[in-house]
Amino acid sequence: MPSSLPKRGTVLVADDDPVMRMLMLEMLAQVGLDAIEAADGQAAVELARTCAPDLILMDVEMPRMDGFAACEAIRAAGIVNSFDGTSVPIVMVTGGDDLEAVTRAYEAGATDFVSKPINWPILGHRVLYVLRASDAIARLRIADAQNRAVLAAIPDTFFRLDRDGFYLDYEPGHERPGRGRAPHQPQPCIGKHVTDVLPPEIAARVLEQMRTVLTTQQVRSVEYDLEHCGEVQHFEARLVATSASQVLGLVRDISERKRAEEQIRRLAYCDSLTGIPNRQAFLETLERELQRSKMGNKKFAVLFMDLDAFKRINDTLGHNAGDALLKMVSERLRETTRPSDLVSRGDGKDHATNLARLGGDEFTILIPDLERVEHALNVAHRVKEAMRRPFLIEGNEIFVTASIGISLFPEDGDDCGSLLKFADTAMYHAKNCGKNNAKLYSSSLTMQIMSHVKLEVGLRKALQNDELYLVYQPQRDVRSSEIVGVEALVRWRHPERGLVPPTEFIPLAEETGLIVPIGEWVLRTACRQARLWQRQAQRTLRMAVNLSAKQFKDENLSQMVHSALLDAGLEPRLLELELTEGTLMDDARATLATLEQLRGIGVFLSIDDFGTGYSSMNYLKRFDVRALKIDRSFINGLPQDSENAAITRAIIAMAHGLKMVVVAEGVETGEQLLLLEQYGCDMVQGYFLGHPSSADAITGMLQAPLLLPAK
Ligand code: C2E
Ligand code: MG
Ligand code: MG
Repeated sequence: MPSSLPKRGTVLVADDDPVMRMLMLEMLAQVGLDAIEAADGQAAVELARTCAPDLILMDVEMPRMDGFAACEAIRAAGIVNSFDGTSVPIVMVTGGDDLEAVTRAYEAGATDFVSKPINWPILGHRVLYVLRASDAIARLRIADAQNRAVLAAIPDTFFRLDRDGFYLDYEPGHERPGRGRAPHQPQPCIGKHVTDVLPPEIAARVLEQMRTVLTTQQVRSVEYDLEHCGEVQHFEARLVATSASQVLGLVRDISERKRAEEQIRRLAYCDSLTGIPNRQAFLETLERELQRSKMGNKKFAVLFMDLDAFKRINDTLGHNAGDALLKMVSERLRETTRPSDLVSRGDGKDHATNLARLGGDEFTILIPDLERVEHALNVAHRVKEAMRRPFLIEGNEIFVTASIGISLFPEDGDDCGSLLKFADTAMYHAKNCGKNNAKLYSSSLTMQIMSHVKLEVGLRKALQNDELYLVYQPQRDVRSSEIVGVEALVRWRHPERGLVPPTEFIPLAEETGLIVPIGEWVLRTACRQARLWQRQAQRTLRMAVNLSAKQFKDENLSQMVHSALLDAGLEPRLLELELTEGTLMDDARATLATLEQLRGIGVFLSIDDFGTGYSSMNYLKRFDVRALKIDRSFINGLPQDSENAAITRAIIAMAHGLKMVVVAEGVETGEQLLLLEQYGCDMVQGYFLGHPSSADAITGMLQAPLLLPAK
């Protein structure tokens, strides 16, 4: 709206009396107003139409058309002010005490009147006053129209409150497709108190903010939810003071914005695959729980779960199946970690946030308000149980197990990072203890892991530092008691720790892949030694070398074996490779191909530790392995352990049925040897017949006359 109006200075003076007209013109001129004249009503109507005066001074009694008729005609013609569209003000000049004339004048549409005898000195001012008043009205009209246009353009509901919280105005907003809805108030609000219109809690907040707005004169807003047709709508009321005692409020439906915010939050905090909270969400929940527990002197547990062999499922069935499995796993976890399973927090918070997927096949569960450690173990047990049921994926029944690590606050750590790391460490420990396990973290675990890491660093250097060496354990033919072969067993002399048992460093070497270079060194050294004995002792001695699963999977294996034999000048038939059942079972097709290659070279293949793995006859047949070594755990209890005796006898019979040579491992007594002889066992190996010994010691044994301990 412009700050000042253009000059409004033209007054139409309609009077049949020329003297009156002249006097009026004079008075108007004195206050700076221009004038045009009409001598009768008709002329006045004409001029009003053509000249658009800013005000008309109209005498009542005039020839041709009197003032009333002229006034009516002007109003009927709808002559308006060209600037603001308001009707031109008409001031009627009436007879002194003619009350009826005054009434008629208003009826005819007059704005004001002056009565005769005219008070000439104030006429000009009176006219100015009417002009100003009509300006003010015009301004108000424009402002009002603008306000209405603005309010019509926005979907917001608007209201005005007085300082006591009573509605002075209320204009419901309108709906706009896709732009939210106005907060419909079914009943008219004007005159009512806020507490009559809004729910008490919301009304109290509105009133509080309203008081702040009135004292600070600053804009404040209140957000609240209302239920409408069973659907919760979010609103924001912005309050602004329009005076010292009134507040204007604009209420907007912000449901859409809230939904968008929620969507963003979901994307940021939700795992898109499973729909459960993600790592970020979990870390924040954990942080909150940590603060809460610190303040309340409470305990909580972090469970870290990892599926065993998830990679294999992904690799064999494809990623879609892997994804489907993860979804099902998270669903089962969700069921398992329902509030009833967790100690109630009593705050009504969604317990689903206690569960999260950190990534891959790693899930975490937070157990708040832990009273006893057993409770965490119970949940872990339940989780494990939940995983045991088969998962039906793409028509396949899939069996998975889970390894779980648990860390406790405050026992294990007092920051989120440590607690999560320790739960992870405990999970690895659970895996190392044979998977499908739940383990609590303990600080000794860290020590264990540290020494594990140290050992690994040492093992990497062991080869180049010449810390590895081989010992050989004789294998004797049962009937002739002659040494017909030896098994090469690797030893590591650690510079600080001394002798490290292979049961400790072989798994580590397998885990780290170091077994491949170490195994190659063992094989080459053993082949050279076998060739040496062949030359020295003129004996054909078979050299058995252990082959780990990692080596078996190495695509250069047969090439390496071939080259080791060639370099040593050893006949292939004098080399025996010991494989375990697990190695053979891992991937049947690849196994068959590798076995074929090895057989092609001409080496002798045997199965080590038979009976501890799958012990499947079908596989033995299929893989066409030449010899079988009965694990020493079966020999151990002989001859007293009748069960083991039966098993041993059965294995020997079965192997012979397949035309395999049977070697018994771990023979420690003469009784055992006797029994094995009765059972028809072909070869024996064990402390009773010779400890693993240095090459020199074996050379001595080979040269000495046959001196066997008595059976
Ligand atoms: P294995 O292949 O079953 O080797 C036989 C193990 O039984 C050897 O343990 C041997 O010392 C032990 N042993 C032999 N006779 C007796 C007995 O009468 N009583 C008892 N209680 N034990 C007996 P060692 O040398 O500690 O080796 C353990 C395992 O480490 C081996 O089991 C083998 O699986 C692995 N290993 C050893 N050397 C190598 C190697 O060069 N490469 C690979 N891949 N693994 C190896
Ligand atoms: Mg062996
Ligand atoms: Mg063995």
